[in-house]
Amino acid sequence: MMAAVTAAQQGADVVLLEKMDQAGRKLRITGKGRCNLTNTAPLKQFITHIGPDGRWLRNCFAQFFNTQLMEFFEQRNVPLVEERGSRIYPKSGKSLDIFLALINDLEQRPNVEIRKNCAVKSLTEDCHGVRLQDGSTVRGDALIIATGGLSYPTTGSTGIGYRLAAEAGHTVVPQVPSLVSLTCSDPIPADLDGFILKNVGLAITRPDGKKLFEAFGEMSFTPNGIDGPIVLSASRQVSRMLNGGEPLVAHIDLKPAVESDTLDRRLISDLNANGNRLFHDALRLWLPAEVVPLALSRLHIEYYKRLHQINAAERKRLLAFLKNVELNLTGTGDYNTAVVTQGGVDTKEINPKSMESKLVPGLYFAGEVLDLDADTGGYNLQIAFSTGYAAGYWSSQASLK
Ligand SMILES: Cc1cc2nc3c(=O)[nH]c(=O)nc-3n(C[C@H](O)[C@H](O)[C@H](O)COP(=O)(O)OP(=O)(O)OC[C@H]3O[C@@H](n4cnc5c(N)ncnc54)[C@H](O)[C@@H]3O)c2cc1C
Repeated sequence: MMAAVTAAQQGADVVLLEKMDQAGRKLRITGKGRCNLTNTAPLKQFITHIGPDGRWLRNCFAQFFNTQLMEFFEQRNVPLVEERGSRIYPKSGKSLDIFLALINDLEQRPNVEIRKNCAVKSLTEDCHGVRLQDGSTVRGDALIIATGGLSYPTTGSTGIGYRLAAEAGHTVVPQVPSLVSLTCSDPIPADLDGFILKNVGLAITRPDGKKLFEAFGEMSFTPNGIDGPIVLSASRQVSRMLNGGEPLVAHIDLKPAVESDTLDRRLISDLNANGNRLFHDALRLWLPAEVVPLALSRLHIEYYKRLHQINAAERKRLLAFLKNVELNLTGTGDYNTAVVTQGGVDTKEINPKSMESKLVPGLYFAGEVLDLDADTGGYNLQIAFSTGYAAGYWSSQASLK
């Protein structure tokens, strides 16, 4: 939609082909229906949130970045608000307003035709046109592929762009779900399902101990693994390994603010002060009730022992649990729950200024179909809007020549 608005603004005749009964279905569910459209982080910091190489976007962001995007919507009567973490949302709290600003702009332009329920099936031989499901073809001076990734396929993005790019001779980096929950082989006690742990540490390592990820913050449990903000961030680093069958280990530090030595001294003092309490009941001194069953299943300490009977080895096991709950990771959630797709059209074969293919002149790419993915925080939509802008702008210059 951003590519279409921009090309039309430049005077090009635009046909927007949309497979669903309405464009922007995914846009409308972003940010839990509130649409975190961008982030005010300065460029240098912004691109560190993008992989595999955020620097590739510098030229594109020089043309259209977060301030231009905010102006774009404010000029279309969508007031915006900045929230925690420099995240930008529509002030109304409704992603619908972002969608309406784009679609109303497009619908008012005489040089834009929107064809809904119109699924592209393949490229024409010269890659300057597309074949539709009904057998007809649509041709243009320029063609922009902005079909998204594979995540949330019910919104229309089923990954056809990767096949179209390959048909055109492009290298397509294999895809994996990203910003997604992680699964583990360890049983998760029913009490923990959905339980949120705030202010914990999460590290992910290879079985040999090599650290791949570390963060502090909020996470939660699922029936078969872990989810929540720091887990989604971790998934960007580890999804490819897990989906490639590599086993990894998650380490949850339930007391990240306290060093082990200090915590051990506190345990000794608590054990002494509460000598007559039963162990299973006393676990509440150090843990939320929901985590107690997991602790009991792991610690191999008799439930009905009095605290004064806990020996040094048992205390060390309790300490180790509080500082390091290990989970054996086996995989990730699937594309039905992944916020974005990692992998896609290799950016080395795309002109970073114009989004034009270096292999096929007149063919452009924008959005998640490209091999670009980012953290949560508005970065992914900014990538889509900025690459959409560049593709729309430069394709129109070429087609108006
Ligand atoms: C639940 C959820 C919440 C999110 N929240 C945020 C957020 O708050 N902030 C953020 O920055 N990012 C968020 N994201 C990520 C962001 O939505 C995507 O990165 C972004 O929408 C990608 O834009 P796109 O235009 O490339 O692809 P899409 O938005 O997926 O659009 C692709 C379009 O192409 C159409 N299409 C596909 N195949 C065909 C075909 N064969 N023929 C014709 N049309 C076709 C689709 O129907 C769709 O309309 C979220 C994602 C999800 C799933």
